[in-house]
Amino acid sequence: MKKLEDYVVSIPDFPEPGIIFRDVTSILQDADGLAMAIDSIREMVKNLDYDVVVGPESRGFIFGVPVAYAEHKSFVPIRKKGKLPRETITAKYDLEYGTAEIEIHKDGIKPGQKVVVVDDLIATGGTTEAIAGLIEQLGGKVVKLCFVMELAGLKGRERLAGYDVESAIIYE
Ligand code: IMP
Repeated sequence: MKKLEDYVVSIPDFPEPGIIFRDVTSILQDADGLAMAIDSIREMVKNLDYDVVVGPESRGFIFGVPVAYAEHKSFVPIRKKGKLPRETITAKYDLEYGTAEIEIHKDGIKPGQKVVVVDDLIATGGTTEAIAGLIEQLGGKVVKLCFVMELAGLKGRERLAGYDVESAIIYE
C-alpha cells in the first residue's frame, strides 16, 4: 500500500537552483493520492469544534473545499489583492523577494467564529501568519492550521508558535 509521500514528486532546482520543489499536482493526478491527501486533513479536524474552513488561493482551495464539503462546514477564500468583489480587508507580508498582498471578504468571518486554515504547504509560515492575522482582525478564532506538506527546515512552526499546526508530510 502506497503512502501519501509516495505520490509527491520532488523537483530539484525549481523554481531556482538549490530549491527542492515538492509538487502537489503529482498527488492530485492519482485518485488514491488525492483521496489520501483529503482524508489526512479530514482526520486532523475530525474532533474539532469549528465553523469555517479558510483556504488561500490557489492550492488552499484544492484541499480546503473538499474538506469543508465532507465535514459540512462553510468555506471562505483568501485571494490575491484585487480579486474579491465585495468589501475586503488586506494583509501585506514579505516574500523572499518583495511583498505580497492577500485579502478576505470583510463579512467572511463573523466575530467569535472558529476557523480551520487549510493549505497545501507551509514553508517559512509567512503566508499562514498573514492569513491568521486577517481572521483575527475580523474577530475569528484560529483553531488549527492544517497542511499537506511542511518544509520543517524553514521553521514555519516556530513562526506560528501558539497555534495548533499539523502537516500530513514533514520534510526535514
Ligand atoms: P511560506 O509563506 O514561506 O510558508 O510559503 C508557503 C507557500 O509557498 C505555499 O502556499 C506554497 O504554495 C508555496 N511553496 C513554497 N515552497 C513550495 C514547494 O516546495 N512546493 C509547493 N509549494 C511551495
